[in-house]
Amino acid sequence: MSFDSLGLSAELLRAINDQGYTEPTPIQRQAIPLILEGKDVMAGAQTGTGKTAGFTLPLLQRLSDNPIQGSRRPVRALVLTPTRELAAQVGESVATYGRHLPMRSAVIFGGVKINPQIEKLRQGVDILVATPGRLLDHANQKTVNLSEIEILVLDEADRMLDMGFIHDIRKVLALLPKNHARQNLLFSATFSNDIKQLASRLLDHPELIEVARRNTTAELIEQVVHPVDKNRKRELLSHMIGSRNWRQVLVFTRTKHGANRLVQQLDKDGLSAAAIHGNKSQGARTRALAGFKTGEVRILVATDIAARGLDIDQLPHVVNYELPNVPEDYVHRIGRTGRAGNEGEAVSLVCVDEHKLLRDIERLMKREIPSKVLEGYEPDPSIKAEPIQNGRNNGKGRPQPQRHTEGRHRSRTKPSAKKSADAQQETKSGNTTQKNTRRKPAGSQAKKPQPQRSRSGGGDEWGSLFGGSARSK
Ligand code: AMP
Repeated sequence: MSFDSLGLSAELLRAINDQGYTEPTPIQRQAIPLILEGKDVMAGAQTGTGKTAGFTLPLLQRLSDNPIQGSRRPVRALVLTPTRELAAQVGESVATYGRHLPMRSAVIFGGVKINPQIEKLRQGVDILVATPGRLLDHANQKTVNLSEIEILVLDEADRMLDMGFIHDIRKVLALLPKNHARQNLLFSATFSNDIKQLASRLLDHPELIEVARRNTTAELIEQVVHPVDKNRKRELLSHMIGSRNWRQVLVFTRTKHGANRLVQQLDKDGLSAAAIHGNKSQGARTRALAGFKTGEVRILVATDIAARGLDIDQLPHVVNYELPNVPEDYVHRIGRTGRAGNEGEAVSLVCVDEHKLLRDIERLMKREIPSKVLEGYEPDPSIKAEPIQNGRNNGKGRPQPQRHTEGRHRSRTKPSAKKSADAQQETKSGNTTQKNTRRKPAGSQAKKPQPQRSRSGGGDEWGSLFGGSARSK
């Protein structure tokens, strides 16, 4: 199947051709015609599936098919993303695919100066890609007007909820036009009850689509576990990178602090490394990523949130220096390698403390990951498992499992929603502090998602992602 049959305009087909894409990916095949028809869509797809073009192409087409008359230039489409990196990548895609169209787009996120963003918005923007915090800062300062949004996209909605953005999302929804036939598109890798609840408020008779998830398509990724003592992981990592001559390695740690420490240690071993996480300035994150892509930096050490959405082509090696607390994150992590049909390798260094985490991951993947003890790095059997430390708080008190450490809101009951310096930067105006109001978002007249039909590429996946009730009738 070629792109020609999807109903896209000549300008968009040209842009696709410029990119060298010859055929649509499964998510594009399913999403593009539905979005062109104006349907609300709930899509199960993660980074690497081509989902960005899946919503960007039809969005561009719908806006250009119905131009605004006169010289006004209201924001007509809004794409919300959880992280700055993803916002930047989506913004690039909008610019790339829209290059032959007279559309203007802007990307706004925190951690960088707000004034250039204000200036850009003032000049008029058709499509806005934003992280929720900075968007609300603009809304509070009245430097953005969202009252004429025709298309709303929530990208990586699951991650936005994990990061504690739900209140911000509600606030944004309240700023959107109320009596308007807005089209809503929700993309998510997983569908928890929270996501389904959000979808039921937001989406109107959504079409459900899904492409195979990475945890069922990981065949191209060779996975291995190397059991090793915690205090010898760094040594083993340096040894593997050096002796196997790995030139580009993405390494995951559980915490920001752990990422920084590992970078310092690798530097001491003569291996060029950079960290990417929420406490880094946007400039440092961009530089680290750019250096890694060009090969200047050999090792990128990342936390889960920061790495999410990174699109690095043909990444050969991913190392789980520490296993994630949330098994799904393992799937996201290893999904960074073996992309677009390339083979990849995912190595996990697992100490005795992490055996339970490993079991959880294997249960999720429904397969055992081959384990290989490396000579000279045999674990000491006398070492007993200790609770996992997830950050500064845990060091002082009772160890608590923590989903993520880079979210927007602090909450005593939900460690997952811990506010980060990253997010604080985004809320500098202080106007986005949340109260747990249960206000219903605009345009959400208690709509329930009523699936129209299934176009699943994954058959049995429906049950697992959308839940039994969402299966197409
Ligand atoms: P995404 O899942 O949107 O992050 O896209 C992952 C990667 O796939 C990006 O590098 C895109 O440029 C690339 N891509 C998107 N659509 C296609 C296509 N139809 N053919 C080949 N590559 C694509």
